[in-house]
Amino acid sequence: MKNRILCGREISKTYMQGGKETKILTNIDVELYEGDFTVIMGSSGAGKSTLLYALSSMDTITVGSVIFKGQEISSFSEKKMAQLRAKEFGFIFQQTHLVSNLTLFENVAVAGYATKAGSVKEIREKADMLLLNMHVGDAKNRYPSQVSGGEAQRAAIARAIIGNPGLIFADEPTGALNKANSEEVLKLLVTLNRDGQNILMVTHDVHAALCGNRILYLEDGKILDELNLSPYEQDNLKKRENKALNWLSGLGW
Ligand code: ADP
Repeated sequence: MKNRILCGREISKTYMQGGKETKILTNIDVELYEGDFTVIMGSSGAGKSTLLYALSSMDTITVGSVIFKGQEISSFSEKKMAQLRAKEFGFIFQQTHLVSNLTLFENVAVAGYATKAGSVKEIREKADMLLLNMHVGDAKNRYPSQVSGGEAQRAAIARAIIGNPGLIFADEPTGALNKANSEEVLKLLVTLNRDGQNILMVTHDVHAALCGNRILYLEDGKILDELNLSPYEQDNLKKRENKALNWLSGLGW
């Protein structure tokens, strides 16, 4: 049986809009397990990103709790949460949010120093190695404006994993990329997961969702259903695609 790494209990999120309460997430119970590449799918506006930010404590929740490795992080102070986030969580967004006046190498190294996961020398060596592994070693001394979107996103992945996070949160990581760059980024995420990295990714793209081994389907702020797939392998791609498409069409996708 897999160990639970994070769980959300009875999560609800409400926004006040024009003096009126709008419920975005309703009573969500969700568990994430070690070793998994979990995907949250659903149509635009379903509440996917809101759920990701609620589970990562990047955003507050109105009701409920979030437990990570046995600790109720939703009750942490902002300072304690920031420390845990730096050490345990990695983030990849649709936009890379790389610092424009730092090179790719500096962006990754600076994130590494913040995690205090080693000496300056160790972190610089690790930043070098990760940029190489992310196939962006040749561009490491360039600034974000001097590289392609795909190269920038691969550097952002290196930045997300430099502190050996317990969990990566990825919000539409391929949303701003062309097909070839998307493929490369997805392949890297699959490889990271195969090497043991826990990942939670939001996407509305079926092809991206197929990289996960567990897909949760969100609609109107509720988890409607989930699909479990075998770990990603090229040779079972057609089979998993058919399985996922059948499942999605049953959900009215
Ligand atoms: P998804 O990621 O599935 O596209 P989101 O989680 O981004 O959906 O948004 C879900 C709903 O919450 C949308 O209707 C959106 O307009 C609303 N929403 C998101 N953020 C806010 C906010 N800060 N204030 C008010 N409404 C918001």
